[in-house]
Amino acid sequence: MQALYLPASNTSPAGNEPQSYKGKAMGSCVIVGASHAAAQLVVSLRQQGWEGEIVLVGDEPHLPYHRPPLSKTFLSGDKGLEDILIRPASAYEKANVTLRLGQRVAALNSVDKTLTIDNGDVIHFEKLVLATGSRARQISLPGADKAGVFYLRNVADVNGIRALIGTGKRAVIIGGGYIGLESAAAMRAMGMEVTVLEAMSRVLQRITAPEISAFYQRIHTEEGVNVQTDVVIRSIEGDASVTGVQCEDGLFYPADVVIVGIGIVPNIELAESAGIQIENGIVVNEYCESSHPDILAVGDCTYHFNPIYGRQLRLESVQNAVDQAKVAAATVAGKREPYAALPWFWSDQYNLKLQIAGLSQGFDQVVVRGDINNSRKFAAFYLQAGNLLAVDAINSPLEFMLGKRLLTLGISPDPSVLADTDFDLKSLLG
Ligand code: FAD
Repeated sequence: MQALYLPASNTSPAGNEPQSYKGKAMGSCVIVGASHAAAQLVVSLRQQGWEGEIVLVGDEPHLPYHRPPLSKTFLSGDKGLEDILIRPASAYEKANVTLRLGQRVAALNSVDKTLTIDNGDVIHFEKLVLATGSRARQISLPGADKAGVFYLRNVADVNGIRALIGTGKRAVIIGGGYIGLESAAAMRAMGMEVTVLEAMSRVLQRITAPEISAFYQRIHTEEGVNVQTDVVIRSIEGDASVTGVQCEDGLFYPADVVIVGIGIVPNIELAESAGIQIENGIVVNEYCESSHPDILAVGDCTYHFNPIYGRQLRLESVQNAVDQAKVAAATVAGKREPYAALPWFWSDQYNLKLQIAGLSQGFDQVVVRGDINNSRKFAAFYLQAGNLLAVDAINSPLEFMLGKRLLTLGISPDPSVLADTDFDLKSLLG
């Protein structure tokens, strides 16, 4: 894998001086992790007036790209890498960013304020932003290391999967979360035989109500996916490469490829080794500052306070990565703009566009607006003691937009009103 190293045009170190940047004198903001948060951060830093050097170090050899298509249009082959880049190369040139792609930060010294890259280079920083994101949770099973078993987190993973999939091939997906179900939809559309094996009693159990799980199970079954719940897997079988998945109940699911989608783990090790406070992620305040005054963190790797829900959260979403990056850019530039964004998320499967506003954890009531049993268009509102927490809108962009507004304004409509499709929810916004 070739490293891409593009020094910013007017701040590049002299030929034999790669270890330390001139940016040290003028102030250098170094970002670790080149993905959604970083792509926003470099642009926002310049917009906020940061004139110092910006160095972006990322261990993937690509410019930051949109990760969501990996389980959707990039997996199906409808889109290539160029199509999913977040910004073109010219945007980083314009922002005068020194790109160190294909390079991994191996160590962080928070006292000297230096980073050691895996090639031995040492970089000094005035401000450091950790945008290290998360990685796929590994499964512990006999045979999990066989060829043909994949996780789905980055372009390299999907390139490996794409070499093994196509019409008539068989895929077994371990895990019925969003990534598993999106992959199932994409591979089904390619004419593959797809099985989803879920350990819990319903798909999407961790994040949605039973009604929504039942809806997705119905759709996937209608589309020809074999969805199995309450499954205990014994092993992944194969010789040189995978041949299938053996379950405790004796059933064997043949496979040409196995995709494991059982959640993610935040990349906190760099921060942790430098003594930065960790708690289910890198702990940051509303300005994205960690427990070290010159080290910030943004995106999937953070454990942050959300004022709308009044608690600490770790989110796995593009919205959070982008919004925190804007806040961090302001902080680095010496401004104070607290984070107070409403979480939102989406998932595309078949002809279904799910848009989620808010967080449903802790709900005690679900109100469905529309026909969940026979149609592919409805919204589900989640409430706790009558307070609106979240909305899942399926092919219902209006309900998503209104739900966002209601949540932001702190308006909790009566459940009978939410369920009444003849009632115009817009009228509640005043
Ligand atoms: P990441 O995207 O995780 O990027 C972190 C980067 O840092 C990675 O490239 C990593 O390799 C690199 N890195 C880590 N440590 C080091 C180091 N020491 N040195 C150098 N580089 C390092 N979200 C949605 O909102 N909607 C969706 O539909 C959706 N679909 C998804 C589908 C898939 C298949 C996946 C994997 C994710 C999806 N997500 C979705 C989640 C979303 O992609 C993440 O929330 C988002 O990518 C987080 O961005 P980030 O910048 O915080 O970190």
